[in-house]
Amino acid sequence: ISVKEAVQASLDQIEAGEKKYNCYVTVDPEGALAQAEAIQKKIDDGELTGPLAGVPMAVKDNICTKGLKTTCSSKILYNFVPPYDAEAADHLKKAGAVILGKTNMDEFAMGSTTETSAFGATKNPWNTEHVPGGSSGGSCSAVAANECFAALGSDTGGSIRQPSSFCGVTGLKPTYGTVSRYGLIAYGSSLDQIGPVAKDVADCAAILDVIAGHDRKDSTSVARETYDFVSALQDDVKGMKIGIPAGYFGEGLDPEVKAAVLAAADVLKAKGAEVEMFDLGLIEYAIPAYYVIASAEASSNLARFDGVKYGYRTEEYEGLHNMYKKTRSEGFGPEVKRRIMLGSFVLSSGYYDAYYLKALRTKALIKQEFDRAFERFDVILAPAAPTTAPKLGESLANPLQMYLGDIYTISVNLAGLPGISVPCGTDAKGLPIGVQMIGNCFEEKKILRAAYSFQ
Ligand code: GLN
Repeated sequence: ISVKEAVQASLDQIEAGEKKYNCYVTVDPEGALAQAEAIQKKIDDGELTGPLAGVPMAVKDNICTKGLKTTCSSKILYNFVPPYDAEAADHLKKAGAVILGKTNMDEFAMGSTTETSAFGATKNPWNTEHVPGGSSGGSCSAVAANECFAALGSDTGGSIRQPSSFCGVTGLKPTYGTVSRYGLIAYGSSLDQIGPVAKDVADCAAILDVIAGHDRKDSTSVARETYDFVSALQDDVKGMKIGIPAGYFGEGLDPEVKAAVLAAADVLKAKGAEVEMFDLGLIEYAIPAYYVIASAEASSNLARFDGVKYGYRTEEYEGLHNMYKKTRSEGFGPEVKRRIMLGSFVLSSGYYDAYYLKALRTKALIKQEFDRAFERFDVILAPAAPTTAPKLGESLANPLQMYLGDIYTISVNLAGLPGISVPCGTDAKGLPIGVQMIGNCFEEKKILRAAYSFQ
C-alpha cells in the first residue's frame, strides 16, 4: 500500500477511536498527509529504504516536535510549540516515519494511569472502564487501538513497560544513555529514557535501531559499540541463563499475573533456557529511593516553568512573585505539586543528607545487587506490574497505593538497565498481562532475543 493509504487508515482509526479512548492530545492530519506525500516521493526515488519509511507513528507529548504542540499533558504548557525536534523525533523523521500526533500521558510523566493529564484520562482499549497504565498510556493505548503502527514513550520508573503490559503491547526501555534525552522534557533526568512501543518485539528492535545513537547535545549520552538491535532477533534461547527474583513473587502480586509470568518462564525453559529462582536483595528499598530521587530531580527540573519563558501565564497578578505563584498554582495539577513539594523538602538544607543522599546511596547498592545477579544470569524475568489495569479513579484516590504498583519497574531505572515488557496472557476479565525481561547495561540484545523467542 502507499504511504498515504497507511496514514489515512491510521487517521480513520483515530477518528473512530478517539471518541472512546482519548489516546492523543494533538492529532495533526494535514501535517501527516503532507509528510506522507514527501516521504512517498523519497521512497519512489530510492532515497528512503529503511524499515520505518512511511510508517505512521505517534510520539509521547513530552518529546519535542518542531512546529507541533508539546504539552506534557499539563496546563502550564498547553500552548507550547517547540522550535526544534527532540533528537529521537529527528531520527524518526529522517528514517521516514510519519508523525500522526502527540499522545496523552500523566502530567509531566508523573503517574501510572494517564489520569493525571490536564486533558482528560485515556481509556484502555481492551476495556474502557479501566486505565491504560502510565505515564505513556496514550502511546500504548494508541498502538493497542491501531491508532498508529508504533509510538515513542518515555520511562522514568516504568512508564513504557507498565502501560505496555496493561495494553497488551510490547514496550522497551533502553539502557540509560542509549537514546538521547535532548528535547525530552525532563522529569527525573538521571532516570529518564525514551523508548519504543510497538505491536511486537521485532518492531521495537527496528525502532530502537533508528532512535538510538550517541548525541553530543546530551551529556549523559553514551557512544555504544554497535546499534544493530535487529540482529538480535533470533528464535533461540538454548543455554541462556534466566533468573527469577523469588522476592518478586510474594505478597502483593496478583495470582493470575503470577501464573502468567511463571508460565512465560516455562515457555523459555522448554525452548532450552536454564531458568532459576534467586534472591535479589534490597527490593523493599527501591520505591522509597525512587520517589525521593525522582521527586528531587523533578522539583529542580520544573523550576523553569514560571510563566515567563513559555507556556501558561496567569491572567491577573500583582508583581513578579505573585505572577510566579499564581502561574504555578494554576498551571500544575495536584500530583505534580505533590512531587515538587516532596522534592523540595528532600533537597532542603538539614534534610538533604537524611533523604536525598541516602536515596542515592541506596540506588548505588541496588545497582550492585543487579551487578551480582548478572554475573550469573543473562536475563532477569519478572512481572511488569503486580496487577492488571485498575479501574479508572481507583488509583487517583490512593497515590501511595499507586506508587507501590511501581515495584517491579523502578529498580531497573535506578540501575540504568534495559527492560522490555511483552504480552504473556490475559486475566479472567480479559485484561492483558505483561512479562518483563531485564538485561544488564548495554545488553538489549539479550532481552530482545529472549523476548523474540518467547513471543
Ligand atoms: N509511576 C512512576 C512515577 O509516577 C513512573 C513514571 C514514569 O516512568 N515516568 O513516577
